[in-house]
Amino acid sequence: MTRVLLATRNQKKLVELRRILVAEGVTGVEVIGLADVPEFPEAPETGATFEENAVAKAADAAKATGLPAIADDSGIAVDALNGMPGVLSARWSGKHGDDQANLDLLLGQLEDVPDERRGAAFVSASALVLPDGAETVVRGEWRGTVIREERGANGFGYDPIFVPEGETRTSAELSPEEKDADSHRGRALRLLLPALRELAE
Ligand code: IMP
Repeated sequence: MTRVLLATRNQKKLVELRRILVAEGVTGVEVIGLADVPEFPEAPETGATFEENAVAKAADAAKATGLPAIADDSGIAVDALNGMPGVLSARWSGKHGDDQANLDLLLGQLEDVPDERRGAAFVSASALVLPDGAETVVRGEWRGTVIREERGANGFGYDPIFVPEGETRTSAELSPEEKDADSHRGRALRLLLPALRELAE
């Protein structure tokens, strides 16, 4: 069994990756999280792109633990804001991780933007870095529209104001399984599967 570290403390992300591996028939990989390894200093995310942040996080984790490590970085890129909040999605309101303030600020900024120009994408970059430094980095996107009022109680972040293409519900109104099947993060993780399969052999 090859142990792979997913550089996160988020139990939901661990469960999601394990579920995808099972669904895709990848056996021989055991996914552990940051809570399962000795603590090491975690650098702040300073990259200009999702990919840079994901690779930096995975490389730090691989170096500190000697394990193959996966990390992801994600956010929402709004067309009318030229791709922002982008890598700043988690701290858009000026405070890291205040989902409600971030969402309220974005809605205010888009107030005068007409419906036909409210396109956006959730983006996720995932990186796998091996202890020898070899890197695989992939990107998943989930396009949709930013609506004007919050709907739904599932998910987190900008989910209550994002209606994916082909849906009438927001991503906060989808079940977790429905969201995984289509989401940016699910897409990116599935793109990492060939590299993970190779690791398991
Ligand atoms: P991080 O990748 O965990 O640093 O998350 C970045 C930020 O992007 C989060 O704080 C959310 O605001 C936003 N975000 C990323 N993925 C999602 C999602 O699936 N739904 C809603 N918001 C998201």
